[in-house]
Amino acid sequence: MSPRPTLFISDLHLHPARADIQQAFLEFLADAATSAEALYILGDFFEVWLGDDDVNDFNTGIIEALAALPVPLYLMHGNRDFLLGQQFCASVGATLLSDPTVINLHGTPTLLMHGDSLCTADTDYMQVRRLLRSPAFQADFLAKSLPERAAFAGSARQQSKAHTQANMPAAGGPANDIMDVTPNEVVRVMSEAGVRQMIHGHTHRPARHPLSVDNKPAERVVLGDWDSHGWFIRADAAGLSLESFPIA
Ligand code: MN
Repeated sequence: MSPRPTLFISDLHLHPARADIQQAFLEFLADAATSAEALYILGDFFEVWLGDDDVNDFNTGIIEALAALPVPLYLMHGNRDFLLGQQFCASVGATLLSDPTVINLHGTPTLLMHGDSLCTADTDYMQVRRLLRSPAFQADFLAKSLPERAAFAGSARQQSKAHTQANMPAAGGPANDIMDVTPNEVVRVMSEAGVRQMIHGHTHRPARHPLSVDNKPAERVVLGDWDSHGWFIRADAAGLSLESFPIA
């Protein structure tokens, strides 16, 4: 009997305006994920998450589909859905992972991250990230009404979009492209974790990057965001593969 593969996804950015992505995800759950060893969701699963008390038809539909998945489910926060809480995890049967986390992936120690913390050249973002991830800010935010939270998230999203566009090389931003990971930071975190394999998302630049960590061959595998295609990583004892499929 061949061992079942472990699957990784990230950056689905689930949102009611993208019924096509929602549908692709539900099919992915019913198909590939059902026969997996485990499913890992490495952040930005939702486009925005205002709090576990934001109950609506869209969120409830996703929660029910996840809850029905008969395999172990692991969830990591992204920069969009960092307010996914214990109530959400309990309702879908997921284990919340801290960022970073090292797992034993079919015999290979593997570092899992969302990826935003690797973009250290984007100093403005790193500063915002510290604020958003602070318990004081989060407690404050969750104490607001849902309409207030939605308004805040909307304006933060506009600022983030303007910041991203201003820093794209095509728009005359820095040639070294600060929106991608910092290579030295990748090596540093992999060395510190004692791993030679890493999986993350966030940058929307799906690829496999060979590199050297402590003078040994290593690899960083980047998941893609779900848009015209869905992306996932399939891993078993023979290794891993980065795969995609078209979203109709
Ligand atoms: Mn992200």
